[in-house]
Amino acid sequence: MSCPNPQHDHAHCTADLIARAERTCEIRGSKLTGQRREILSCVAERHSAVGAYDIIDRMAERGARPAPITVYRALDFLLAHGLVHKIESRNAFVACSHSHEGHPTAILICGTCGTVAELDAPEIFRSLDARAKIQNFCSAQILIEMSGTCGSCRGKN
Ligand SMILES: [Zn+2]
Ligand SMILES: [Zn+2]
Ligand SMILES: [Zn+2]
Repeated sequence: MSCPNPQHDHAHCTADLIARAERTCEIRGSKLTGQRREILSCVAERHSAVGAYDIIDRMAERGARPAPITVYRALDFLLAHGLVHKIESRNAFVACSHSHEGHPTAILICGTCGTVAELDAPEIFRSLDARAKIQNFCSAQILIEMSGTCGSCRGKN
């Protein structure tokens, strides 16, 4: 998966994502409850980083305003199942755009349009892990977030 094409059918993209999330939960014996599904669809509304309070606002527009703790708990669930990723540098979230079976992906953030894409680069993660081991450091999590300009923004210039 590369950067999402701005012309893509996003309704189809979101429906796909929700269906995949339901399958993932089913396989793992957990449940994508109505509220979790709604929070996931709020995150997936755009291919850009969304903060917890933006999610609350989006949900309030559709119905009742949820308590922050409800949203944080649902986000923890979605994170644990790899259905959303946390963007640490923005303290925000993005829906996972493809299944990568627990392998980490690098996050690409366009500074112009805010689009977030995922980059598969398992060899980079393996290499960092191996180098950390040389320093007798045992890594638990490696985060790679790259900021820059996406292809479609570059194409406009
Ligand atoms: Zn989309
Ligand atoms: Zn992902
Ligand atoms: Zn862009």
